[in-house]
Amino acid sequence: MDYYDVLGVVRGATQDEIKKAYRKLAHKYHPDRGGDQEKFKEVTEAYQVLSNKEKRSQYDQYGRTFDGAQGGPSGFGFDPSSGGFDFGSKSEEGVDLGEIFGEMFGFGGGSGSKEDLRFGKDIEVEIGIPLESVIKQQKKTISLHKMIVCSRCNGLGAEPGTNVKECFSCRGTGKVQQIMRTAFGQMRRHIVCPECGGEGAKPEKPCNVCKGEGRIKKDENIDFFIPAGADTNQVIKVEGKGEAGRKGGKPGDLYVRILVKKHPIFKRQGDDLFMVSSISFSQATLGDEIDIPTLDGKKVSLRVPAGSQSGKILRLPRKGIPHFSSFGVGDMYVQLEVQTPKKLNRKQKELFKELKEQGL
Ligand SMILES: [Zn+2]
Ligand SMILES: [Zn+2]
Repeated sequence: MDYYDVLGVVRGATQDEIKKAYRKLAHKYHPDRGGDQEKFKEVTEAYQVLSNKEKRSQYDQYGRTFDGAQGGPSGFGFDPSSGGFDFGSKSEEGVDLGEIFGEMFGFGGGSGSKEDLRFGKDIEVEIGIPLESVIKQQKKTISLHKMIVCSRCNGLGAEPGTNVKECFSCRGTGKVQQIMRTAFGQMRRHIVCPECGGEGAKPEKPCNVCKGEGRIKKDENIDFFIPAGADTNQVIKVEGKGEAGRKGGKPGDLYVRILVKKHPIFKRQGDDLFMVSSISFSQATLGDEIDIPTLDGKKVSLRVPAGSQSGKILRLPRKGIPHFSSFGVGDMYVQLEVQTPKKLNRKQKELFKELKEQGL
């Protein structure tokens, strides 16, 4: 199990991204909400390691060896008896799960501030790429129809040359008090100011193009890089390229999920490639040099040893896919498939009869 894969984040993900990813998955898999308990344990374990700076760097360095039979170092495993899931309690790792679950179930700290209302939404897209493209870092450009900052008013929402004024109704706070009469008496509560929609400010004259929103829907080309060795379900974050915020608010982020398409010849397993190569009966018997295709389009020569059986697997070192998180390249494995001839001409038939007489 790869912790980054479990959380669906890239290896260089920030703490914020890890937290965000975990919150989403914990929400999805939480057993109290009818989710998959095993999955929940998995994502929580991944989060406990990756949210801890020291553990994360240990994992980045030695992570792969933990899969071995030694059972892994102590402290890395998920231990339900530690009570790490109690709301509000800090787990041993110092990860405040309560904070996350508090937010998850909606009884966390105050939300819906003036600032939040302007935030642009994140966008998630999926991009299909051919297997051969992952051998190198590649630049991609996608076109998205989304909210972008209005260029007429620079996102302020005010017609050029006019001002944005403090809202008279809420005096700039974005909230107004409402008094409700209930069976228990009068209750006061704060609601979003209907005059300014919680902005606390109103343009004197709204922008003609965006009608005061500060953003408009338009096509935008977005460039980003897909790192070498990228695999399906990896997510690339393009900061600030989600929907533009309202009235100059912070834009959302763009998350691009990778989908590596199936290849007609090669099967990918991690960073290794597998393929099947047909050889003739005599090539298998006598041995031969055969040409093997590779992902970069060049052919490489593979020596088939004399006496090779059908099904034999040969390895071509470093002809696989570059490792995503470290230096090095995977290998290619070629499985031999010996073809039994179906149609023989007279000469061939005679030769085979002769072989038969020789006991072959
Ligand atoms: Zn107001
Ligand atoms: Zn505008």
